[in-house]
Amino acid sequence: MNRLKALLSKIDGKGYKAYKSIEGEYSFPEFKLMIDHVQSDPFAPPSACRVFLSHQVSKFPPELWENEARKIALEDFITRRFYEKAREKSGKSGMITIMKPGQKILKRSSMLIDGNGIEARFYVGLPAYGRRIVAREAKKIFFDLLPQIVEEAMMYHSSLHEKMKEHVEVAEDAEFIRKNLKKEGLVAFVANNSILPRKSGVEDLPLNNAIKFVSPPSLEVSFECPNRRIVGMGIREGLTLIVGGAYHGKSTLLEAISMGIYNHIPGDGREFVIAREDAVKIRAEDGRYVANVDISSFISNLPNGMDTRNFSTENASGSTSQAANICEAIEIGSKFLLIDEDTSATNLMLRDRRMQELIPKEKEPITPLIDMIPSLKREGISIIMIAGGIGEYFDEADLVLMMDRYVPKDVTEKAKEIAHKFVSKRIREEPGKIRIKERRPIPETINPSIRGKIKIKAESVEKLRFGMQTIDLGRVEQIVERGQVKAIGDVIHRLSEKFAKKSLSQIMNEYNGRFLSILPPRGEYSEPRKYEVAFAINRLRGMKCV
Ligand code: ADP
Ligand code: MG
Repeated sequence: MNRLKALLSKIDGKGYKAYKSIEGEYSFPEFKLMIDHVQSDPFAPPSACRVFLSHQVSKFPPELWENEARKIALEDFITRRFYEKAREKSGKSGMITIMKPGQKILKRSSMLIDGNGIEARFYVGLPAYGRRIVAREAKKIFFDLLPQIVEEAMMYHSSLHEKMKEHVEVAEDAEFIRKNLKKEGLVAFVANNSILPRKSGVEDLPLNNAIKFVSPPSLEVSFECPNRRIVGMGIREGLTLIVGGAYHGKSTLLEAISMGIYNHIPGDGREFVIAREDAVKIRAEDGRYVANVDISSFISNLPNGMDTRNFSTENASGSTSQAANICEAIEIGSKFLLIDEDTSATNLMLRDRRMQELIPKEKEPITPLIDMIPSLKREGISIIMIAGGIGEYFDEADLVLMMDRYVPKDVTEKAKEIAHKFVSKRIREEPGKIRIKERRPIPETINPSIRGKIKIKAESVEKLRFGMQTIDLGRVEQIVERGQVKAIGDVIHRLSEKFAKKSLSQIMNEYNGRFLSILPPRGEYSEPRKYEVAFAINRLRGMKCV
């Protein structure tokens, strides 16, 4: 500590570059400070630092981090507290900053608890006057602000015990339900009293005065979780249709389920809206890039003679993009698809009897999803689909759920009666088993550099700069934090060589759940799923597969 003080005194008033000399490790009375990377000028991204405290000092009771779910939740809690305290104390200028978590509890690289202690990874904007070093200000950061933040955020305070306990218990119970869905034959669970709608399209906060969720009696199930018993609606494997009038809450329910792959913080309203971990939201995405996907189960005999068993395009149509999205999700291992008609290509969903008459099979490249359903079911693939306008799916549905003024009703029997009474005149196609191709991206086509310099940047939750390309993730809906985008970019770079030997799905399976472990110890990452990593690779223009 004294060494750092002396160093700072020595470089006071010098040019900014002299800050480089403070990179290193310093012992403080209660913690260790690591200054890993000093920014090159006052306007560059802030300097990367870490603080380590032993458990003897931090004193968090072991039961708060005794298993993986609890540990991740406690790390999340401490990151939030660190964020708040840093903001409070360093003001708007943000001299000390750390990742800002949203409504989800994610594994992040900003806070790490292990057998030895707890480590925070954060950033410091080193102060300057013009381009001259101001040692007095820097000393204030390291010897006044930082110890305060560490004391308040990274040491146990019994006054916060109840809050921390709730945080870890909610995450533990959510994780418990997710792990047990499969055993119960369920794909999703929505607890009674959940608050599904959000404040607005851009605010991931619960809507005030929302109508709380209540399960239809016929679908009610309960879970004896480690910390409570939770009752709610269980959706079984198979094909589930969500029907109902416009504005009755269909998309809201589906969106909440799609976010059920993540744990949520207490008070979110969706704490116990849980989806199986392989849930993938599927949508049409016209304009997207597609590389070497076999979409022939859905689309074949294109007029230009293009081979749809090895389909590539710079500019997919609504239907081909949605077909590619389905095939790529299954390729990476998903057996649970979520589809909203609002964001689907009508011609991929259905071709009705009249259109079948006008445009005979030989002239129509598309085999609509409705005809693929039996085949998908045989593969064990479940679908939850919003079908506000298409009753043709009634025949294949295992459950028909009607949203009625935000209240779900089980109308399966009625839908089956109707299907019986108004028999579909559609000509059924029997397309056979769905064809999924395992692809191997060619490493040389995954290039993160520009003129020899690596350039990977998470511009936002929707945009990833990767070398010369910008990967558009705006319609990969289950990415929720910029830290995930950052992780995805660096993971792709680190793993690209491996594709020389193994397929995309093999590599994704190998690293799923531990992508952060192959990234450098910097506090800017949140764990992505294998799906989102693969989906980003799929959208990298210029990437080719064999
Ligand atoms: P649909 O897909 O059936 O047309 P949405 O899910 O888009 O309907 O919901 C329509 C509107 O109703 C949205 O603004 C949404 O926020 C709101 N909403 C959804 N669920 C609830 C609820 N439980 N309580 C109050 N408002 C809700
Ligand atoms: Mg809708």
